[in-house]
Amino acid sequence: MERIGAHSHIRGLGLDDSLEPRQVAQGMVGQVKARKAAGVILQMIKEGKIAGRAILMAGPPGTGKTAIAMGMAQALGKDIPFTMIAASEIFSLEMSKTEALTQAFRRSIGVRIKEEAEIIEGEVVEVQIDRSITGGNKTGKITLKTTDMETIFELGHKMIDVLNKEKRPEKSLNWVDRLLEPGITMRWTRFVQCPEGELQKRKEVVHTVSLHEIDVINSRTQGFLALFSGDTGEIKPEIRDQINTKVTEWREEGKAEIIPGVLFIDEVHMLDIECFSYLNRALEDERAPVVIMASNRGITRIRGTKYKSPHGIPIDLLDRLLIISTIPYDDNSIKQILTIRCQEEDVTMTDEARDILTKIGMETSLRYSIHLITAAHLVAKRRKASSVDVVDIRRVYRLFLDEKRSVNYLREFQEQYMF
Ligand code: ATP
Repeated sequence: MERIGAHSHIRGLGLDDSLEPRQVAQGMVGQVKARKAAGVILQMIKEGKIAGRAILMAGPPGTGKTAIAMGMAQALGKDIPFTMIAASEIFSLEMSKTEALTQAFRRSIGVRIKEEAEIIEGEVVEVQIDRSITGGNKTGKITLKTTDMETIFELGHKMIDVLNKEKRPEKSLNWVDRLLEPGITMRWTRFVQCPEGELQKRKEVVHTVSLHEIDVINSRTQGFLALFSGDTGEIKPEIRDQINTKVTEWREEGKAEIIPGVLFIDEVHMLDIECFSYLNRALEDERAPVVIMASNRGITRIRGTKYKSPHGIPIDLLDRLLIISTIPYDDNSIKQILTIRCQEEDVTMTDEARDILTKIGMETSLRYSIHLITAAHLVAKRRKASSVDVVDIRRVYRLFLDEKRSVNYLREFQEQYMF
């Protein structure tokens, strides 16, 4: 089954070589000024010209702030880390707010490491896990594709599968941990036997990992497996200091390069004053990533204080930001976005239906009209129609309320709800 995400149609910022936005390209439509500004920032990040800067994307709901951030992430490529969080996550994790922010920062800082290692070349290689290493009686099979970090993760997942089948996770934990030695030299090839001729010895390999991954791997209480479970807990400041020193050493020895990436914080008005002062400080660090924030709020209270400010962001932080604003779409852009979404969801729609949906999008919200595509498609399928028509749109429009109608309904029947 293929799942289609809200932004899966976005493949980049849709700019030409001179950073000019095309009206419709790479899944992006309109919002030309903001996309152009995002393109300039992107270029500066790629050239390594900016780090520790913060950008704010401000604009009404559904005007493509997140979509533009996703486009930037795509255009940055795999080698530059891009982390996305919603500000409210900071409060829901089982760790302090500043720890959560520190982890998000360190996830967004890449370390490109060069090392000599035994690597396996070739597309897909079947390998056996060495029996003596597992310490058990069974051997498991794993498949490797490349030698980059993603593969290491893939490898880890497969190993966990093998281990789960063996029902000996504790024992295996040490075993998996041993694959990565302190300082993350990935010498997993030492532990596998490969078919003749597939193994090439002592080649220089370059991989990019994030500072956070190095922290987790080196944190005794966490270990390598924490990277898969996502449950990393708090990391001791001493560990981070050690890693920082180590990485600086590697850098001086020419073994590693620091790649400041991008941290995207959505709904930034949900951060409180303590988080904002953390941000102010963290942005001063020489390793800091580029922080892109987004907010759809106007003048609102800064959480944790009784003061109001634009977007709920303290004025001193606001003063450091480059601000990109997004504006509401005209009906033409909404129609084009809906067309792209129909293609993405593999939905055929008649022109009349699309016109009605565009009108709904203008009167309610873009997001609501995008949601109706999937629902209307289901309804059309029920009546065995091959394309979505006006009747289907009408039907789902009545079935699902948009925000305005829902609020009106609530007002009308308020007294019947519980207090
Ligand atoms: P909010 O403030 O509510 O978080 P937002 O500005 O981040 O809203 P998005 O989530 O980016 O809005 O946009 C809503 C939907 O419309 C998403 O599915 C997004 O991919 C799509 N979308 C928005 N703008 C564009 C655009 N310019 N081109 C293509 N798709 C877009």
